[in-house]
Amino acid sequence: MNLPSNAAQPNLENSPFFEGALQEKLVLPKCKKCEFVIWFPREICPECGSQNVDWFEASGTGSIYSFTITRRIPGSWSKATPFVLAYVELDEGPRVMTNIVDCDLTQIRIGDRVEKVFEEAVDRDGENGPPLLRFRPTKS
Ligand SMILES: [Zn+2]
Repeated sequence: MNLPSNAAQPNLENSPFFEGALQEKLVLPKCKKCEFVIWFPREICPECGSQNVDWFEASGTGSIYSFTITRRIPGSWSKATPFVLAYVELDEGPRVMTNIVDCDLTQIRIGDRVEKVFEEAVDRDGENGPPLLRFRPTKS
């Protein structure tokens, strides 16, 4: 089943990310002043404070920086256990808190290569939301 989640909502500052996601593209802002790649997408650089950003299509690939397997949890996520909560380090630099899906829980390791997958968010009320960025092991 899909993991439940309350997805982030599109707004004026992050709309290129969500427009890209609808086309299965990972579109991120990059600071034009210091070249920092910004996560979560917004039009201000957390490194230098510049509001001069460019949007570009990122590779959508990265590696697992850290992860945990959740086997018991209260609330709406309980039906989705076990699931993987992870930090993925994108090849462009940012570390993204996310889920690893379509994976063998006995095989997952730090450093594993992963690729983006956009899943439909389903909130507590069963309503569909904007796409969510998750990752799955890269098929080699
Ligand atoms: Zn900057």
